[in-house]
Amino acid sequence: MTVPATTVSVCVVGSGPAGLYMADALARRHAGAAIDVLDRLPTPYGLVRAGVAPDHPGTKAVTRQFDRALTRPGVRFRGNVTVDRDITLAELRAAYDAVVLAVGAPEDRRLGIPGEDLTGVHGSGAFVGWYNGHPDHAALTPRLPGPGVAIIGTGNVALDVARVLAKTPEDMAHGDLCAHAARVIHAAPLADIWVVGRRGPLEAAFTPAELSALGHLERARPVVETATLPESPPTGLDPAAAKIVEKNLEILRAFAPRPDAEASPVRIRFLFNAAPQSIEGETGVVTGLRLARTRMDGARAVPTGETLTLPVGTVISAIGYRCRPLEGAPLNQDRGIIANTDGVVAEGLFVVGWARRGPTGVIPANRADAMAIAERVSAWLANHAGGAKPGPAALDALLAARGVRVVSLTDWERINRTEIARGAATGQPRQKIPSVGEMLTLLEPDPADVGTAAGL
Ligand code: NAP
Repeated sequence: MTVPATTVSVCVVGSGPAGLYMADALARRHAGAAIDVLDRLPTPYGLVRAGVAPDHPGTKAVTRQFDRALTRPGVRFRGNVTVDRDITLAELRAAYDAVVLAVGAPEDRRLGIPGEDLTGVHGSGAFVGWYNGHPDHAALTPRLPGPGVAIIGTGNVALDVARVLAKTPEDMAHGDLCAHAARVIHAAPLADIWVVGRRGPLEAAFTPAELSALGHLERARPVVETATLPESPPTGLDPAAAKIVEKNLEILRAFAPRPDAEASPVRIRFLFNAAPQSIEGETGVVTGLRLARTRMDGARAVPTGETLTLPVGTVISAIGYRCRPLEGAPLNQDRGIIANTDGVVAEGLFVVGWARRGPTGVIPANRADAMAIAERVSAWLANHAGGAKPGPAALDALLAARGVRVVSLTDWERINRTEIARGAATGQPRQKIPSVGEMLTLLEPDPADVGTAAGL
């Protein structure tokens, strides 16, 4: 449905999948609306750029859909604008008829166990951000002394991290692994990559395609203790969940008896029913991960009283994410999301994506989410927006007065071309620029051009 032309204005904060699906939905519903999409980085696409694994270039093709959203009439990309630093949420709400927060969940959840702050413990958000060139994490210096690494969690992020650590430089050649990370990962003497689940294989959150990929690596073999695998999934699961669990079990069973695994240079060792108790260290650095063995009591893992310690120099927790606090949008602290009722935070203020529902679901799940919340935004606009708010002009004036270097879509395209050109030199789709400062420098006018334009 297209709503008749109006002068309504909407600000979408965040240009990841949820924000761009939202901008697209609103632009299609409200012909003539002014829709500004803000991002604190000079680059759009959120986790498609900084979260999707560097060896999954196909998944990133979704950016073509996002580019269509960003070039729809009335839509503007405004990068390098941080809410709470450059502009407040209150100012945005005063400027636009509606504001939609699509800010994701960028903070790593904490394990809450002793030793979590030792050198060599990394959250997956920071670690993945580091190898994907996110400017927040480019300076991370992960400790990968080998031979053991423990990854806590049995979700798809844990498998992504295990696979990226296990792949050879040749395996990674056609992806966009950042050069700074490739140097460290490919020099690390890793032999045992543990993937640790506090519950059993039936409760694992990973999906069959991601699990099965671990069986096709050049230098690494998966290892699973057959004894930990149940005969069959429990009855009573809903059919979709049962299908995933059955397929996962089938793949894990196929991993179990591989005789070549112990002889391979790298093993990815699945350890189920092992709950993290503490991270052990000497002189401030990680030396081991202490685990309590568990058994299942219904869906709950309960300790058996047995413990074990994995000798590892690195612990990566891949246990989910939380939102970052934003002035004027209180968090639901238990869930780590922006407190909301079906996407509504306050009058004219909405939330969508992981910031609304928590860090679950693949990219297309954010499309469905955005469509549902766009309905609510539209209803609000239809009933409350009188077109009296100043919209984009107010944003431009405030940011100009504060000297913010706003990055436009044209600017991003220039960054994009540079990254692609740098990647071409090494046969990669792109080599990301992991620094906001370097991106902004790249956008400075060439003094020669300035001279020409001024007739000098
Ligand atoms: P996830 O799927 O929710 O998995 C989190 C894992 O952490 C679970 O195994 C969970 O175990 C465990 N965990 C949580 N708290 C823990 C604790 N205190 N101690 C030990 N373990 C703990 O989250 P994710 O892997 O971060 O993925 C986020 C979303 O992105 C998912 O929907 C995922 O499918 C998606 N994703 C998809 C892809 C892909 O399709 N290729 C790639 C990456 C991410 P319990 O179940 O016991 O809580």
